[in-house]
Amino acid sequence: MRRTMDCGALRAEHAGQQVTLAGWVNRRRDLGGLIFLDLRDHGGMTQVVALPEHAVVFEQAERVRSEYVLAVSGSVRLRPQEQRSERLASGAVELVAERLEVLAEADTPPFPIDGSVDAREVNEDLRLRHRYLDLRRPAALAPLRLRHRVTKAIWDYLDEAGFLQVETPLLTRSTPEGARDYVVPARGRPGHVYALPQSPQLFKQMLMVAGVDRYFQIARCFRDEDLRADRQPDFTQLDLEMAFVDADDVLALNEALMAAVVCSATGTQVPTPFPRLAYREAMDRFGSDKPDLRFGLELSDLDDVFAGTEVRALRAGREAGGAVRALLVPAAQAAGLSRKDIDGLEAHAKHHGALGLAWLRRTDDGFGGPLAKALAETERARLMATTRDVGDLLLLVAGPWATACTALGALRSRLRDQLALDVDDSRPVFAWVTDFPLFEEDGVGGWTSMHHPFTSPHEDDLAILKTDPGAVRAKAYDLVMDGFEIAGGSIRIHRRDVQEQVFEVLGIAPEEARARFGFFLDALRFGAPPHGGIAWGLDRLVMLLAGASSLRDVIAFPKNQRGADPLTDAPAPAEPEQWAELGLAVATPMAEVPGAAAVARAEGDVA
Ligand code: ASP
Repeated sequence: MRRTMDCGALRAEHAGQQVTLAGWVNRRRDLGGLIFLDLRDHGGMTQVVALPEHAVVFEQAERVRSEYVLAVSGSVRLRPQEQRSERLASGAVELVAERLEVLAEADTPPFPIDGSVDAREVNEDLRLRHRYLDLRRPAALAPLRLRHRVTKAIWDYLDEAGFLQVETPLLTRSTPEGARDYVVPARGRPGHVYALPQSPQLFKQMLMVAGVDRYFQIARCFRDEDLRADRQPDFTQLDLEMAFVDADDVLALNEALMAAVVCSATGTQVPTPFPRLAYREAMDRFGSDKPDLRFGLELSDLDDVFAGTEVRALRAGREAGGAVRALLVPAAQAAGLSRKDIDGLEAHAKHHGALGLAWLRRTDDGFGGPLAKALAETERARLMATTRDVGDLLLLVAGPWATACTALGALRSRLRDQLALDVDDSRPVFAWVTDFPLFEEDGVGGWTSMHHPFTSPHEDDLAILKTDPGAVRAKAYDLVMDGFEIAGGSIRIHRRDVQEQVFEVLGIAPEEARARFGFFLDALRFGAPPHGGIAWGLDRLVMLLAGASSLRDVIAFPKNQRGADPLTDAPAPAEPEQWAELGLAVATPMAEVPGAAAVARAEGDVA
């Protein structure tokens, strides 16, 4: 029996036709004299009815269970008007089974997949262990379909724009992107390892040296990072690079590409060009280098007001060379915030680096709150001018500029959700953040790259590269979507001398640079064109477009929150012979590795 159409394709106009469908039994309902089977496949569902007059089929249908795989032939008939289902696209008709073949039996699934239970109520590891069942749910498959459309739109657009798709190696040397490498021991060379790429960064730059001109790849990348909720150890980027361009060219191409992708994946038009914010401005106004521009609640600068303050909670931060930043929550929203809520906000601010959170509530003639009494008259007067209504709430953080901004930025995002602020989510809101610093302090007296070591400094700042690294601007840009960093890139260093100077600032000695990146420094010696590019976090983009809340929803076979794969049970212990073959031995049993025991327990590896 070969199927003649998909389960979801039956319509009223097919009534009277003979068809064969194949699929899984979503649910079976036995009404005594009648058996209904909902037959589901990739494209939808159709109701099959087994009638006693077809005795063989009826008897077979009695033995059928959920998730059995069937082929059913019969005639299509219109359902009585009152039994039509609006929920199903094929809800106007049903298939009267005349022949039925059980193609495969199925055990009872470990969790319902017939839509009767919300997937969020099922233990996620259980779903991931049986991901092939989880994906049978149409709601689980939908993000993968969207992902396909996104990828196809990218291919179509970039192909048209003259880009060449090139694959780069997975077994390679380290490409520093700020994470630990995953390493693969090389059997033939004991003591040697390949690294899995954190990104194709150096390869795409060498493709530019090779004259490829416009490159892209949907690239798998690997970063061994402490897992946070929104990360996967292996993930996918749209990686691209262009020769003979400046930042404006890269930004313009990416805006047009993004607009095309969003439109073909979701039908939504997004206006271009995207607004641009300098890093400093993004931090000053929104307390974040990935600001959510869908709502207001901007930060304000109260340095002047509190320049010589006696308010203890602010003075310490101020004297530490710090800034005073404030978030004004208008009375209408602030009314919803209790004292306890404010304590919660303070804990959140501290979690983001603030020493504390000061607050003031506007009253009829001044301010209430623990600090109100300590305010000098001039401070009070100036704050009266800053606020508008009785009940306005001022949240204040004093400290180093970046910390004060970041802590309030974190409160701004939290208040968006806590106060259910009016956020325009009719379409995604994009913005570029530009003019990042090239370096940031590493906390132990040195410098690290804010992006990666191959990012070009601004030409005007080359002279101060070594004397004032903190002031050097990078030709880097991030693309932000609804408060998420969705892409990041830069114009690259294409001169070997500049690359060497940057390594020097980063504390990478020439011998070390030679040992780690000699192959790349050599490439720069043979005529590198000016070039630049970007990489998009494809998983995250699809997650946002799908309205999903987890990256795991948009990846066919994701790792769980502990970086393990419940389906295959990876990572798995290596066999003694494998260790021997690789010339390796385990020096530290798992029980002695900090944190490993807890992970193993959670995975069920140890009792
Ligand atoms: N390689 C960078 C990253 O993975 C992106 C880029 O600079 O193009 O973040």
